[in-house]
Amino acid sequence: MSEAQNSLLKFETLAVHAGGERDETGAIAPPLHLSTNFEHSPAGQPLHGFLYVRIDNPIQRRLEEALAVLEGGESAMVFASGAAAGATYLQSLPPGSHVLFSDDLFYGFRAMAPEFLPRWNITWSEVDMTNVNAVQQAVKPETRLVWAETPTNPLMKVLDVVQLARVAHQAGAQLLVDSTFPTPALLQPLNFGADLTLHSTTKYLGGHSDVQGGALVFARKDETFSRVLQIRKTLGSVASPFNSWLVLRGLRTLPTRMQAHSKNAIVVAAFLELHPKVEQVAYPGLVSNAGYSIAKEQMRDFGGMLSFRVKGGKQAAIDVASRLRVFINAGSLGGSESLIQHAVSVMHPSGSIPDDLLRVSIGLEHPEDLVNDLKQALA
Ligand SMILES: *Cc1c(COP(=O)(O)O)cnc(C)c1O
Repeated sequence: MSEAQNSLLKFETLAVHAGGERDETGAIAPPLHLSTNFEHSPAGQPLHGFLYVRIDNPIQRRLEEALAVLEGGESAMVFASGAAAGATYLQSLPPGSHVLFSDDLFYGFRAMAPEFLPRWNITWSEVDMTNVNAVQQAVKPETRLVWAETPTNPLMKVLDVVQLARVAHQAGAQLLVDSTFPTPALLQPLNFGADLTLHSTTKYLGGHSDVQGGALVFARKDETFSRVLQIRKTLGSVASPFNSWLVLRGLRTLPTRMQAHSKNAIVVAAFLELHPKVEQVAYPGLVSNAGYSIAKEQMRDFGGMLSFRVKGGKQAAIDVASRLRVFINAGSLGGSESLIQHAVSVMHPSGSIPDDLLRVSIGLEHPEDLVNDLKQALA
């Protein structure tokens, strides 16, 4: 599809077709070339557009085209994991840079910052990004990157991408949005001024708990893009062809799945909110949620992630998780199965995460079965 055609099509249609151009065989499912290397001319020039799998390969190129189209970016880059996408981007920053992180963040990045950023001569700090004034105060002359995540993990705080982009740009910094939870089906941060988005494609984009991957989508194919690409090529943090194929397959059903996750999650959230044993529910789709109006403005729906606090403290929360039969106690998120995790038991302890908090990834089961399972576990 040409760019002009793309601009006329709706998201659902793009998700089904982006990166799916037929090759000479007419195959409907895209071909998967596992070849690590490609024939070149005696003088080393690529004859068919490719040279070596770590640099570029046909299925990776299709997935990157599709992700760029779905996010409304100029270009995308796929990685071995979401963590690899983040690390590769951070390595591209000039030494001496400062990074401002959201104070509620995927715990792997929380762990990465103190261990690796000092080695790369990068400083960082954290701020509650629901408070835009606090963000304004926290940016420094050397801030190169404002790193947001929305809704945040595991507290489900909704961030205002428009305001964060404004503050970041005023400070001469770029805004990265880790958009793993909403996916482009529900939020398109580049359309609200973000410079790039990060995804763990391991989650909703893959969608079936069977593939690991990551992605960065860039609003512009600029100097930053080239630097990140150079690091990915050299250090090899790239996605494998088979994993790229699985993620591309996941994109075909993404809008439909996100609708179904959201539909289930609001039912579960509404049930939990009224339950006497539940202290508090964090779900952006509840009117009681502090981020509801921003979510309503910037997101197409509220997604499948929520967390809730159980009355009675840490052990009471673990007991609820242990009594569930349909929900599975497991990490990660975004698959067909509903998952639950006692947050502080599995994530790096942080003062801001209550020890009675359970994080839930709502799957694609029937919502009544999910509600009944929670009902018996809370009884
Ligand atoms: C899982 C996750 C990541 C890391 O992705 P991996 O594919 O596990 O490396 C980053 N951000 C968010 C919000 C995540 O949920």
